[in-house]
Amino acid sequence: MQIYDVTVPVHPRMPVYPGDPPVVLEPRAQLSKGDPANVCYCGMGTHTGTHVDAPFHFIETGRKLHEIPLNIMVGRARVVEVTARKIDVDTLSRLDLGEHIRVLFKTRNSQLWQQETFNPDYVFITPEAAAKLVADGIKLVGIDYLSVEEYGSTTFATHIELLSNGVVILEGLDLRAVDAGDYELICLPLKLMDSDGAPARVILRG
Ligand SMILES: [Zn+2]
Repeated sequence: MQIYDVTVPVHPRMPVYPGDPPVVLEPRAQLSKGDPANVCYCGMGTHTGTHVDAPFHFIETGRKLHEIPLNIMVGRARVVEVTARKIDVDTLSRLDLGEHIRVLFKTRNSQLWQQETFNPDYVFITPEAAAKLVADGIKLVGIDYLSVEEYGSTTFATHIELLSNGVVILEGLDLRAVDAGDYELICLPLKLMDSDGAPARVILRG
């Protein structure tokens, strides 16, 4: 069994979604300067890199990050490869998700991780496709860039459709090294209390 690390590295020069806080990771104590240990300060937005969105991200009364059940974020998942520029109902109609409740979309987005600046031209999920995923019983949706939403959306309809129906959103995956197929997903976001989201270490086993 192989382990695939589908987490993007967190560092100050990584791309972040426009308007989100930049990543700070810097030494506060250093052995080389006579301190008793090396200790870094780490600061970042809750939607940095590979991360989970909680319903509270867009819904004031929604579940907080620490309230999302682990049994949604851990378990069998299907990676599907999509070549389209957006994931719409037509795209979904050509996919076989079987009985899976977790789906990870591998798109050309994964290549965008080679760039240090944010690229708004990423593959997204339309609100209608989000509704179809909900209707099909999907409980976790993953995508390989920083948002499931079309860039520039002012309604955030895809997020709201998924989050208001209890679907966990996993954003910022790097699926370059992973083929389409079935895996065991292990997604463990930091246990930030009352948060709207949190960075996660995510691996696939298969
Ligand atoms: Zn997010």
